[in-house]
Amino acid sequence: LQRQDSVARLHPFITCTSDVARESASLSQKRYGSGENRGPLDGIPVAVKDNFCTSGIQTTCGSVMLQNYVPTYSATVVKRLQKAGAVIVGKTNLDEFGMGSGTIDSTFGPSKNIYRSGIKYDLLLSNREPDGLDSRFPTAAVEDEDWYVAGGSSGGSAVSVASGSTFLALGSDTGGSVRNPASYCGVVGLKPSYGLVSRCGLISLVNSMDVPGLFGRYVDDVAAMLSVVSGLDPQDATTVPSDLQSLQLPENPSLEGLVIGIPKEYHCPGMKKEVIDTWTKVADLMENCGAQVREVSLPHTKYSIICYSVLNPCEVASNFTRYTGVFYGHRVESSHSMEAMYALTRSAGLNDVVKGRILAGNYFLLKENKNRYFKQALKVRRLISQDFDKVWSSGVDLLLTPVTLSTAVRYSEFNNVDNRTQQATQDFCTQAANMAGVPAVNIPISLNTEGLPISLQLMAPWGQDAALLSAAKWIE
Ligand code: GLN
Repeated sequence: LQRQDSVARLHPFITCTSDVARESASLSQKRYGSGENRGPLDGIPVAVKDNFCTSGIQTTCGSVMLQNYVPTYSATVVKRLQKAGAVIVGKTNLDEFGMGSGTIDSTFGPSKNIYRSGIKYDLLLSNREPDGLDSRFPTAAVEDEDWYVAGGSSGGSAVSVASGSTFLALGSDTGGSVRNPASYCGVVGLKPSYGLVSRCGLISLVNSMDVPGLFGRYVDDVAAMLSVVSGLDPQDATTVPSDLQSLQLPENPSLEGLVIGIPKEYHCPGMKKEVIDTWTKVADLMENCGAQVREVSLPHTKYSIICYSVLNPCEVASNFTRYTGVFYGHRVESSHSMEAMYALTRSAGLNDVVKGRILAGNYFLLKENKNRYFKQALKVRRLISQDFDKVWSSGVDLLLTPVTLSTAVRYSEFNNVDNRTQQATQDFCTQAANMAGVPAVNIPISLNTEGLPISLQLMAPWGQDAALLSAAKWIE
């Protein structure tokens, strides 16, 4: 209980699903007793980001708009996890509707990073011993009033894994929302290839970029989770058949014959020296162990944030027309007119970040602006995607880059109003993968002198998720 209290201070969960968890845990126990065929995740505690629908369980998206919304169905990924025996212990906190990179913009309050929070991860759920330097075990926690952000928008899921509350967690990644908090919290975070994992039941942010993402403490754990959730879903027409159902990573992955690209444009302004040093160190290590490492160019990377900043609001503006207070969600009654009810409902139900994006999106989509902004951004997106294609066809197997420009940032620094653009630049290294649909994974590498995790990212061609995870396991 004491432990639960201390983890609760970090606020990973919006809703704890204790009853559901107890019921499914007791089913697991029965199956175990009777020797029945157990699913690969039988009895494993898993957290689910609160933008995945869960039948009969509140699904809030961190927003007033959906704070009382109880879906009548579960997302395909949730159903697949449950079928494999996973025990869903709670719904995790997020920036409202997944818009943000700090998990500070939730109507339920922020999630906090376990690093330097004064809370010691106590290995309760771990069967592996930490080896002193292992960044996944926050040992050197220091009492600190000015806490560090967890990253976002899937910060609650990252914290639930980093604090040992769950072994695995589901997140969603539209521009980096799984990899960013995984980087800050020192856990593994995978954004699979677009279409490999069903979005049915994931509440839409940007349909053309949203991907359900996976958190775990180890790459093998994430691979086990991917094997359960991936594959064709008749309810999501963008999914593809997958042969990853029996995915098992090699015991000792090898780098022999692999060509690793280092995209020079990812050396971007504002990147901390310790991040660059870690990047160089790991690249050297890979070279010394059989990989061929070469510098490559993704020339349109510099446009990725600006391009994302147009495309994201456009899809948001379109998706968010559904929140009117008519079918579901929050409603503010008005006796004046239907329009007044819509306006009052949206005004009270959505935060400023969401409203700002709806406004921006509608502006970019105005008849007179559409070609200048929306269509132009689609063209730039194509160029960003083609950069990747060119690099892969030149013989490069994987790209190694940083994930975030720095380690986790203090809340006071992150929440600075003048600093909202700095939040967007933290996504510099992650957004291009969403625009190109390629898989990418965050791998925790080490702790810096302050005791905060430093992580790196690997990216692979579309569909090469297994090869990506093997190399990630080697680095881990
Ligand atoms: N930080 C980005 C945004 O605010 C990414 C969000 C995400 O991946 N869901 O849009």
